[in-house]
Amino acid sequence: MNKPSLPSHAEIVIIGGGVMGASTAYHLAKRGIRDVVLLEREEFFGQGSTGRCAGGIRHQFSTGINIELSLKSLAMLQNFQQETGQAIDIKLCGYLFLLSTPAEMAQFEQNVALQNSHGVMSEIWTNGQIAERVPLLNLDGIIGGSYYGGDGIADPSGVVNGYIAAARERGAKAFNGVTVTDIDTQAGAISMVHTNLGSIQTSTVVNAAGPWSAQIAALVDVDLPVNSERQQILVTTPMPTIPADFPFIIDFHQRLYFHREGAGLLTGMSIVGEAPTYEQTINADWTMQHMDKAMERLPIMETAGKLTEWAGLYEVTPDAHPIIGPIAEVKGFYAVTGFSGHGFMHGPIAGLLVSEQILGGAAHTIDITSLRAERFVEGQLIKEFNVV
Ligand SMILES: Cc1cc2nc3c(=O)[nH]c(=O)nc-3n(C[C@H](O)[C@H](O)[C@H](O)COP(=O)(O)OP(=O)(O)OC[C@H]3O[C@@H](n4cnc5c(N)ncnc54)[C@H](O)[C@@H]3O)c2cc1C
Repeated sequence: MNKPSLPSHAEIVIIGGGVMGASTAYHLAKRGIRDVVLLEREEFFGQGSTGRCAGGIRHQFSTGINIELSLKSLAMLQNFQQETGQAIDIKLCGYLFLLSTPAEMAQFEQNVALQNSHGVMSEIWTNGQIAERVPLLNLDGIIGGSYYGGDGIADPSGVVNGYIAAARERGAKAFNGVTVTDIDTQAGAISMVHTNLGSIQTSTVVNAAGPWSAQIAALVDVDLPVNSERQQILVTTPMPTIPADFPFIIDFHQRLYFHREGAGLLTGMSIVGEAPTYEQTINADWTMQHMDKAMERLPIMETAGKLTEWAGLYEVTPDAHPIIGPIAEVKGFYAVTGFSGHGFMHGPIAGLLVSEQILGGAAHTIDITSLRAERFVEGQLIKEFNVV
């Protein structure tokens, strides 16, 4: 591959070519900012967390701010092909949470009431309703669930590449194979971004480096509370008995999930208790535990073969909500990161919101004051319960 020739100056530099960086580049370019440069160190865009995610899109959250982010972002995804020309294979197959304890039931009843108050008409289901919708499930240990038919899945790679192409059409420049190595400040303000292929003078940097965003923040001596946590996914060979309308199922207690992927199933079980890591190799012991639990919950898994599996990284904050906005310690330094396992679905709206902050001083599509970085030092955490 030819080495790209970087410009020596840019109005705005975005670090990271996953869904956050791509969406931010597009929304800035759409608002007339032509001098936007996006830098991605991999040879293709969307190879970080975004390209390794499960593609789930849902409204079922436990905080008003996450529900509002989903309402706006999922509407943007539904309009994505019309807006950018890129198909993203949206399937609203519904999300079904399976619940195991009275405490989980009580929390999900509250969540459903909150979701309904935002116009998301999710429902609490009995085991009878669950068995009718998905007869293939073994419901041992399950006492009920919650369901919303407006949730589903979409194609992460389509979203990233659609945004990058549409941003480029509007004048933005996006480069692969460029690693940011350092960032200079002058008098407390961003002044220069250094890379393996040269330096770019700029006054504004957007940190969209996902699981690596704390490393980028450290380049300007900012301590960003975003940990990188390993997660794994396995995709099965075709399973002809899985119906076309199979929903996205989450066994919440075990953080175990399934959805249809092509003619097979995609399944994951979130790793709990592993120390933060940038390691993206498969943990084979975890695969064994995962498969045992998966076969227990969905016995038909015993007939499945393994098509592929991979590991990826969650970018996790202490309250499982993202950080969107300026970082007070360094003028011109913005973050759009820390989506804690649900960033693909919130990428479209997050890029719009951070663009509004950069261009107009504040986000106006949604009030995101609660997502400011300072909440961690102020002790204003907003805990999300529905984390998978
Ligand atoms: C197994 C798994 C399942 C998931 N399932 C879902 C789901 O169903 N639904 C959902 O909404 N979310 C899901 N997520 C979470 C979602 O993938 C992330 O929240 C989201 O993709 C984060 O996007 P991002 O753009 O911030 O990060 P990334 O996609 O990781 O992009 C950051 C980019 O920055 C680049 N970068 C880093 N450092 C540098 C540097 N120094 N110089 C240049 N470039 C750099 C990286 O190469 C990377 O491409 C899942 C995640 C995983 C791992």
